[in-house]
Amino acid sequence: MSSDNYGSLSGDGSINVGVGDFRGANVRVGGSGGEPPTFTPEELHIVRHPALGGRSIQSERLSAFSIITGICSLVGLYFTLFQAFPRPQHASLGSLFLFTFGLSVSFYVISAVLKRRRFEHLLFRKYYIEAGSQGRLHLSSFTAQCPWCQSRMHLRNVGPKNGPRQDVFLCERNPRQHTIALDPTALDEINE
Ligand SMILES: [Zn+2]
Repeated sequence: MSSDNYGSLSGDGSINVGVGDFRGANVRVGGSGGEPPTFTPEELHIVRHPALGGRSIQSERLSAFSIITGICSLVGLYFTLFQAFPRPQHASLGSLFLFTFGLSVSFYVISAVLKRRRFEHLLFRKYYIEAGSQGRLHLSSFTAQCPWCQSRMHLRNVGPKNGPRQDVFLCERNPRQHTIALDPTALDEINE
């Protein structure tokens, strides 16, 4: 292939920007090019593993619980910060209340988000909370069978620390190349 350059790289010595002409060049957008292969849940043998012995909770109960604990921790925080004596144990009590407040806020957000999305990552990058057919919330982990090497795959919430995260099945044998992004809408609904 000829690699004639039709562009110009001349300038006045400040910031020179080449006027590019990409005639004859191969420009690839997006990694390896082409769509990643897709598989159905049946082809992947996706298995849902209920955590907590299959226990579930009503989503309204979770949001009510999070509001109550949120208020309690705020009241507790107020009393430890402004009413009590400034002792070291009160500082740790204050951070405990702050922690429970943060926890209750995240529970509230999760129960609100689940009403629309029905599937959300919750714990340790491997546990997911799902809304069932009657609106109860279930905690589960997921495995599948690798379509390339038939090894076991685990669903993990992966991605950069502050960037967008994805739920991906990672192969036990080749976790770098054998990966499948999960579309949670393809999963069976939990019948209640
Ligand atoms: Zn594999």
